[in-house]
Amino acid sequence: MVRGGRAGVACLRFLGAGSAFVTEPDCFQSNMLLEVPNGTVEGGLARLLIDCGGDARRSLAAQGLSQRDLEAVFISHLHGDHVGGLEWLGFTTYFDSTLTRPRLFIPACLEGPLWENCLRAAMEVLDHGKGDLTDFFEVKALDPGIPFSWRGLNLSLAPTQHLRAEDGSTMTSFGLRIPGPRLKAYFTSDSRFDPVALQGHYDWADIIFQDCETTEYRSNAHTHYGDLLTLPAGLRGRMWLYHYQSGPKPDCRADGFLGWVETGQVFDL
Ligand SMILES: [Zn+2]
Repeated sequence: MVRGGRAGVACLRFLGAGSAFVTEPDCFQSNMLLEVPNGTVEGGLARLLIDCGGDARRSLAAQGLSQRDLEAVFISHLHGDHVGGLEWLGFTTYFDSTLTRPRLFIPACLEGPLWENCLRAAMEVLDHGKGDLTDFFEVKALDPGIPFSWRGLNLSLAPTQHLRAEDGSTMTSFGLRIPGPRLKAYFTSDSRFDPVALQGHYDWADIIFQDCETTEYRSNAHTHYGDLLTLPAGLRGRMWLYHYQSGPKPDCRADGFLGWVETGQVFDL
C-alpha cells in the first residue's frame, strides 16, 4: 500500500532503514524514494530511488511499487546494499519494451568502477552483442562540486569518508543535500563519525537523516549511536536515525533524537 506522497510536496519515503545485513521480514536495507508530483492530471508521482541495494525489488514491492514506478536512481557508493539491485533494475527495464531506461545519477568517479567491478560480468553479453552501462541506464555522471537537478529540485552531493584503512586507503560515500519546499534535508549516506567535516551540512539542514550503527562493537565504517550521544542537544534534535542493525535499539527519543526511521515511513520535505 502506497502511503504519503501529497500533491505539491516533495517526500522522502524509506523503503527500508536497516543495515546491509538485516534479516527481519519487515526490515530492509536503507534505500529510499524521493517523490514529487509528476505534473499529470491524474496526480501521479515521479520517483528517484536513492540507492538500489539487493533488497530493492522486495522493499519496493512491500510499498506496492516496482521498477515501473522509478524514473531515476542515485547511487551513493558501491557496497551491495546500495548497488546490489542494479542488475535487477537494469535487466527488468531493458527487456520490457514498454519502459525507458532509468536515469542513473552517479558521482563521476564511481561510473567506471560500477560497471567494471560490480555489473559487467553479469550484464555485458546482450542480445545485440556486448553492451555497457548505457544499454541499461541513461547515465548522468555528477561532478561533486556542482549541484544537479531532478524534477525542479537542486540536489547537492555531500561526500563523506565511509572507510579508512590502516594503510591509508579510503572509501568515499556521497550523501545528499535535498532542499525541499518546506524543509532542507541532509542525508548522510554511510559515514564514519566526523562531526567536524560534516558541520557545514549539519548547520545547513532543518532535518538530518543520520547513519547510525547500533551493534555493541564499532565497525568504524559507520557512525555509532554512542558517538552521536556526544553531539549537542540542538543537533540531536534535528536527527532521524537509520541504517541500524537487527536487535534491540536504545530509546533514542529519550536521548533527544527525533526517532528511529521505520520501514515505509514518509517525510514531507
Ligand atoms: Zn556502505
